[in-house]
Amino acid sequence: MSQITDFAALGLAPELLRAIADAGYTQPTPIQAQAIPPVLAGVDLLAAAQTGTGKTAGFTLPILQRLSSSSAPPTAAKPAAQTASQSAGRPRCLILTPTRELAAQVEESVRTYGKYLAMRSMVMFGGVGMQPQVDALRRRVDILVATPGRLLDHVGQRTLDLSGVEIFVLDEADRMLDMGFIRDIRRVLTLLPAKRQNLLFSATFSQEIRTLAHGLLNAPREVSVTPRNTTTELVDQSVYLIDRAAKAGLLSHLIRTQHWKQVLVFTRTKHGANRLAERLERDGIAAMAIHGNKSQTARTRALAGFKEGSVPVLVATDIAARGLDIDQLPQVVNFELPNVPEDYVHRIGRTGRAGRPGAAVSLVEPEELKLLVGIERLIGKRIERAAKVDGFVAPTGAAAAAELRDDRPPLPPRRPAGGSRTGPRAGPNGAANAGPRPGSHPAAGRGPRPAPRAPR
Ligand code: AMP
Repeated sequence: MSQITDFAALGLAPELLRAIADAGYTQPTPIQAQAIPPVLAGVDLLAAAQTGTGKTAGFTLPILQRLSSSSAPPTAAKPAAQTASQSAGRPRCLILTPTRELAAQVEESVRTYGKYLAMRSMVMFGGVGMQPQVDALRRRVDILVATPGRLLDHVGQRTLDLSGVEIFVLDEADRMLDMGFIRDIRRVLTLLPAKRQNLLFSATFSQEIRTLAHGLLNAPREVSVTPRNTTTELVDQSVYLIDRAAKAGLLSHLIRTQHWKQVLVFTRTKHGANRLAERLERDGIAAMAIHGNKSQTARTRALAGFKEGSVPVLVATDIAARGLDIDQLPQVVNFELPNVPEDYVHRIGRTGRAGRPGAAVSLVEPEELKLLVGIERLIGKRIERAAKVDGFVAPTGAAAAAELRDDRPPLPPRRPAGGSRTGPRAGPNGAANAGPRPGSHPAAGRGPRPAPRAPR
């Protein structure tokens, strides 16, 4: 079977090849082909890859192999019970992710690919009770997948010991920095042993990421599968130029007439996500909002409904959507354009995944045209303007006014004449640069962000 040969050629062990075959993968994705050999060889890695490229398997497969091949089997001098107690709460691999959803998905991948190996993994994030995690840490943990805030809480309580980490992974490093986790990351680094293997994954490479990578990685191998800031060619992108008051109606119309069965809709704010989901429900379209103010249970339920098809529309803020791993997502809608052009690239990266085609539609009101220009400049091409939609009548007068009531999203701050945009990042809750923690209040629905900082 060619898939086995392809993955086997990368040097993966039979137990992993079996799990890969079970997952139905036919051949390694480009990031897997590039990343697996150096990670297996034990060198540091700097990888440019966005979600949807298969990057998770790109690092979990070789990590599983390295840890399992170097795990000391119990001996007479060191019986199993003793080995287990020595490694309780002392992981050998730490994978840091920016969001709870991504942490959960990465750990699920570890379990999927490691099912024929005797590795133990654990996921750790905030927003849920501490005690079950404390209990789990009393047992052996080989691979820990965590968000930074809760991880540091455990370190503070001495329920977690990071001095045995042999492999450290920073996943979606760009988003970690966006979410204000830099101080937490630096703190985690001080808790790790000096001798370890480091892997850093990021969709985009700002100067800030390069600086972080420089301080973290030791003579890294660099691999890249996504040319910088380009959108995937597989995604069919289009723009509807439309008034704000007509957006929700047009979205309902498109969902119904185009028979969209699974659509991820992006809004800028949590409030906007809630309102839009309610509005679609009123139109008879099952929709759920997913964002950081929702409980973990509500988020998990919304995602499960979306994945299995009972909820065709998921309305999400950028941060909440960041970690979602949804296969074959055919349709993404930007109900509002993001304030930061790079977020557009992340958003549409949700579709056209793993080699399948997808479509991304943006509903753009006149006030957002500047944002559109910024996006087109970043991706280096003009996005096609969609033609007038048959059968759709935009609301006017009182109907339009009703659509707009209580519905204005915050637009980016206007640059005062001669002023700068480098004020503090203040979310709707006023938490300027608070370094949001997953347990307390992820930055979903954040307010306008400042322009990218100048290289330091
Ligand atoms: P990721 O970029 O890690 O979020 O992975 C995106 C999706 O691709 C996940 O749903 C994986 O299950 C899937 N995937 C990973 N590796 C492969 C592969 N070699 N062939 C097909 N699908 C894959």
